[in-house]
Formats: sequence, C-alpha cells, structure tokens
Amino acid sequence: ASGSEENDVVVIGGGPGGYVAAIKAAQLGLKTTCIEKRGALGGTCLNVGCIPSKALLHSSHMYHEAQHSFANHGVKFSSVEVDLPAMMAQKDKAVANLTRGIEGLFKKNKVTYVKGYGKFVSPLEVSVDTLDGGNTVVKGKNIIVATGSDVKSLPGITIDEKRIVSSTGALALTEVPKRLVVIGAGYIGLEMGSVWGRLGSQVTVVEFASDIVPTMDGEVRKQFQRMLEKQKMKFMLKTKVVGVDTSGDGVKLTLEPASGGDQTTLEADVVLVSAGRTPFTAGLGLDKIGVETDKMGRILVNERFATNVPSVHAIGDVIPGPMLAHKAEEDGVACVEFIAGKHGHVDYDKVPGVVYTHPEVASVGKTEEQVKELGIEYRVGKFPFLANSRAKAIDDADGMVKIVADKETDKILGVHIMAPNAGELIHEAVLAINYGAASEDIARVCHAHPTMSEALKEAAMATYDKPIHI
Ligand code: FAD
Repeated sequence: ASGSEENDVVVIGGGPGGYVAAIKAAQLGLKTTCIEKRGALGGTCLNVGCIPSKALLHSSHMYHEAQHSFANHGVKFSSVEVDLPAMMAQKDKAVANLTRGIEGLFKKNKVTYVKGYGKFVSPLEVSVDTLDGGNTVVKGKNIIVATGSDVKSLPGITIDEKRIVSSTGALALTEVPKRLVVIGAGYIGLEMGSVWGRLGSQVTVVEFASDIVPTMDGEVRKQFQRMLEKQKMKFMLKTKVVGVDTSGDGVKLTLEPASGGDQTTLEADVVLVSAGRTPFTAGLGLDKIGVETDKMGRILVNERFATNVPSVHAIGDVIPGPMLAHKAEEDGVACVEFIAGKHGHVDYDKVPGVVYTHPEVASVGKTEEQVKELGIEYRVGKFPFLANSRAKAIDDADGMVKIVADKETDKILGVHIMAPNAGELIHEAVLAINYGAASEDIARVCHAHPTMSEALKEAAMATYDKPIHI
C-alpha cells in the first residue's frame, strides 16, 4: 500500500506511543501508515532515551562493581580499565538492533512506514517532506499525533551537545569529564550523573527545588539521596543557575540560592541540562486545523484520546500525564481500540515509575505524603533489604520496601521499593494495585526463597500484622 491511498489510521511519530499504536491498529485489521522523521523507529526512548541510558547504566555499573565489589566476592584481577569507545559501541549496537527490530514488526504486521516530516494540511491529510527529498500526502480517516517530547532548554543556556549537553549529548560523550555538573535532579539527571560518576567524573547536581525527584515518597527519597551521596554525588538543592560562561577552557556557572542571595561560582568540564522535557509539536500545523493545546503546549484529549478535532487523536509525551515510554504504549493501544470501536483504558494513577540508578527506585500508586494530603487513614508496612536473605547472600542489601495501605480495608494505596532490581520487583505490586488487592493478599501468597521478592511479602505482613524476619 502506498501512503496516497486512504488509511484507516495514520500515526505521526514512530516512538513507543506511535509504533505500538500502528502495530496494534494493523493487528485490529485497520489499514495503517506510520510517519517518522528520524530515519529510525523507536522515538526518543529507543534512540536517545530509555535504551541507550540503560545500556550505559549497566556497562558503567559493571565497571564500578569490578572496582569496588568483586574483591569482596573473592574475584580479583590486577587492573580494570574503561574502554569508552567499546562501551559506546555496545550501546549503539543495542539501539540499532532494537530499532531495526521494529521495522521488522512493521513488515510483519503490514504497517506502511513513511520516512519524513509530517504536517497537517487538513484534519484528514498529512503532507510529508520525505527524507529522500520528495513530498507525499498521506490520507487517513483517523490521525494519531504521537510526536513525543524534546529537551526543555533553560533561558540563557545554549546547548552545544559538547560542553553543554542535553541527555542526548550525555549519552555520547567521547571522554569522561573530570567535573560534570547536572542541572536538574530528576530521574534523567540522576541516571546520567550515575553513569559518569561511576566512570570517574566528579558529579554535582544543582536543583532549584528543595528535593530530588519530587514525585518520590519522602522517606524513600531521603534514603535514596543518602545512597547517591555515598556514591560521591554532590547535591546543591534550592539553588538556581543564573549564568553560564563558556569563554574559558571549561564552563563557569554562576549560582544563586533559589530564594535569592549571594552568588557563587561552580566550574565544570561538561554541564548536563536536564530540567525536564517539553511536548514536541514544531512544524506540525496544529494551529492550522485548530487542535487545542494547553499552556504547556500539550495536546488536549478526552478519555478516548480524541482532540477537539474529531479525526485527530494524540497519545504519549505530547499529551498530559507521566512522560514515560510504557505510558505512551498504553495510550497507543487504548487510542486504537477506541478507533476500532472497542474499549480502552489507561489509569495514570497505576503507572509505575522507575529510576534506574543503583539501587533502583521503583514506585506505583500514592506516596505517604499524597495519602496524608487526601485525609485517608492509612498504615505503613516496611521491610529493609538488610533483613532479606538473598540481598545478604549477594552482598547488595541497601534499600527497602514500603507499602502504604488503607487503615480500614488494608487495600494497597502505594508501594515504593529501593533495591538493586526494584524495577522488576515493582510489578507484583503493580498487579496487586490493579486488582485492588489488600496487603494481606500479597502476604498470604507463597513467595520463592531466597528471593528479593520476599521483602515485598514481609513488608505486606508488616502493614497489617508483623513481619517474621525482623
Ligand atoms: P517519542 O519517543 O519522543 O517519539 C516521537 C517521535 O515522533 C520521534 O521519533 C520524532 O522524531 C517523531 N516526530 C516528531 N514530530 C514529527 C513529525 N512532525 N513528523 C514525523 N515524525 C515526527 N521512559 C521510560 O519509561 N523509561 C526510561 O527508562 C526512560 N529513560 C529515558 C532516558 C532519557 C535520557 C530520556 C530523554 C527519556 C527517557 N524516557 C524513559 C522517556 C521516554 O523516552 C518517553 O516517555 C517516550 O519516548 C515517549 O514516547 P512517545 O512515543 O510519546 O514520543
């Protein structure tokens, strides 16, 4: 099929929202075209986000373990060094394999793939400037905008992707900077700070707010910050960057307390700007067809992911909600199910969030602070990994499980885990919350021994009764 025939569904953007929507639409028997300008599928996530960052986090963790942990396990070698080009090549290989894999899935599911920049010419037509220099108009009964997000810049700071980098540049540095300053203590800044810190950079994180990762449960956050400080990450909270000078060899930052006051300077070799992401709709022509957006430029949709223009839908980072790949994927499936006349549903309160540092921090549902604010009477159950046999066996026992449950009904309201593989452990809790489980439901399920998952069972016991192992 060519783009000029009418499609049932046209998807603009081939990220986790867009490519999943396209595949699902084709699986539901809808004739589907996906337009992507990047030259590769997978969007931010596969090309410059989730995947390359996790590749570097794993590689740098191995180096760090080799330096600091192997000897404790009786594994010794005379020297260990970083081969940065090889580390980057492994990351690039993972990205290339995965993006090509999606092209394969498009072929298998008969999704037409148009490489180029799409813009609306009408609510039913998208004009595409193709990467090979041509132009084609793609028509669809339904058009899904899945154009994602872009790095948010800060006033007065120009990103050159060499000395002043976004996450994209931070994923491709050609040498380990001696001093790395990270502006913004969100999960992206902390993950990239961890990578370079493990490889030898002295990392300072400057954050305007009074806390790192503001969405995190306060108690877990405190422990998490302590862990990162133990790894020699420095934090300057309640601090704003008011000037950046790149005229010398390195970068000189001028800082000021968030509430105003005396200025100080901070020198860096590389500065990472990670102060959030902003919806990307440049050149799309939304105003031409009258699609409504909010103050932040996010496209407004109803519960069916339809905009105020009936044929136009939107999903993923470009609409309100958590800016996460798995949320974009869920949006994509639900949106297409509605288009196909079925039902779809995404509950943003039950989307897990993971920070892939070491230890990882994962959570689902509400924090203790949120529950308190809602005036709900609650109980907290906690269990430290220090009392978990598997964590002790592998000598990696920093962290804890914290469960917040309704005092009356014991229904689980939120689960927060800090552990080496918290991002995997959290899904038992995600399932429990989605099924409306009580903490006793988790506690009475037989968990294999010895596993880190037993800590979740014990924290569940601690919520309504007593744990066994502490
Ligand atoms: P995107 O992935 O941004 O994809 C949109 C695509 O649309 C892009 O490829 C773009 O080229 C294309 N496009 C835009 N406009 C047009 C146009 N007019 N015509 C044609 N194509 C167009 N999330 C997680 O869940 N887990 C993680 O571990 C994680 N790590 C991250 C690490 C980093 C460093 C970054 C930056 C992000 C990370 N994220 C992570 C966030 C995640 O990448 C995004 O939430 C996700 O990619 C959003 O998916 P999307 O499909 O909405 O948009």
